[in-house]
Amino acid sequence: MTRINVMQPWMGQEEIAALAAVVESGWVAQGARVAEFETAFAAMQGAEHAVATSSCTTALHLALLVAGVGDGDDVVVPSFSFIATANAPTYVGARPVFADVDPTTGNLTAATLEVALTPATRAVVLVDQGGVPADLESVRALCDPRGIVVIEDAACAAGSTYRGSPVGAGADIAAWSFHPRKILTTGEGGMVTTADAAWATRARRLREHAMSASASARHANVLAPPEEYAEVGFNFRMTDLQAAVGLVQLARLPEVVERRRSLAAGYQKAIAEIDGLRAVTDPSWGTCNYQSFWVEVEEASPFDREELMVRLAEAEVSARRGIMAAHRQPAYRTGDHGAASLRATERLTDNTLILPLFHQMSDSEQTRVIDVLRSAAAKA
Ligand SMILES: *Cc1c(COP(=O)(O)O)cnc(C)c1O
Repeated sequence: MTRINVMQPWMGQEEIAALAAVVESGWVAQGARVAEFETAFAAMQGAEHAVATSSCTTALHLALLVAGVGDGDDVVVPSFSFIATANAPTYVGARPVFADVDPTTGNLTAATLEVALTPATRAVVLVDQGGVPADLESVRALCDPRGIVVIEDAACAAGSTYRGSPVGAGADIAAWSFHPRKILTTGEGGMVTTADAAWATRARRLREHAMSASASARHANVLAPPEEYAEVGFNFRMTDLQAAVGLVQLARLPEVVERRRSLAAGYQKAIAEIDGLRAVTDPSWGTCNYQSFWVEVEEASPFDREELMVRLAEAEVSARRGIMAAHRQPAYRTGDHGAASLRATERLTDNTLILPLFHQMSDSEQTRVIDVLRSAAAKA
């Protein structure tokens, strides 16, 4: 029996050809390909400005800096997220304050946020967890009058939609990931998108040491002009090698999302008939790219998550325990990170698992996974 992985990136000859062309051009660092990828990504996401970065983690770091978040500020984040969501405020000297999530979507809501706000709250990081779009409008209705910046962590959400537009289009600023575990990949890579021209300009500078002229602009002149460093910046650059792969991947995004949604519908139909399991679905306000297809083993279920993981492993199906809870990690277990109840977070972290779902997954592979779920439920 061949093993079914939880995720497999979809790459091929086109990416190889795109990489070869960059190598042959003689310019492999951040340059024309990165600029092209930024323009294409902004167009795809309905964003005005896009600034490519080395990862979503560095994109979040830049987003917080350009939004003016720093020492002494509080940033409300979900604990129910990859650790980078909580780390980013820490990098800029702010305090991550954990808020709970909605038990159905796994995302922050205006209600779960409100109880975590403090007089020092400067920003909120709103995650579209696993690609499920968060309800941005209700969060903005809470935050805008209080002058709180909403930063969307759309790491997982390229190809998801919110009220008929691409996710992220309505955010002040959003951060994206192109890690292979996400919906499209550049190996490692990220992006900041924003409607604010001044924020985009500052992010562009900060990612390249806050240099007054980019290395590629200086290279265009035989007699390179002297550069200046107005503030302390970073090396958060993407390379042209990565961007060339990103351009190929981006063109495939609609096809990838269509296939993922079709596989998700197959899971949802089968799981609806299995007692004790609940599958992630589209919320009423948008569509999900199903970057992570998770199921919750419900309280009334006759079997628990660990048993189900073992059954799947016996059938050579690689599932994963659900999204982590940052507040339980040693890095955040001590220290003051607010006092909000994190009950839904803990329930989801302890009782969800992520099922295999990737573009090349065949219908028969999916049937194999579903058969294990059915037989586990029948045997319990
Ligand atoms: C993966 C992920 C990140 C980090 O992305 P990198 O590109 O690996 O830095 C941040 N936030 C969320 C919600 C993620 O899922």
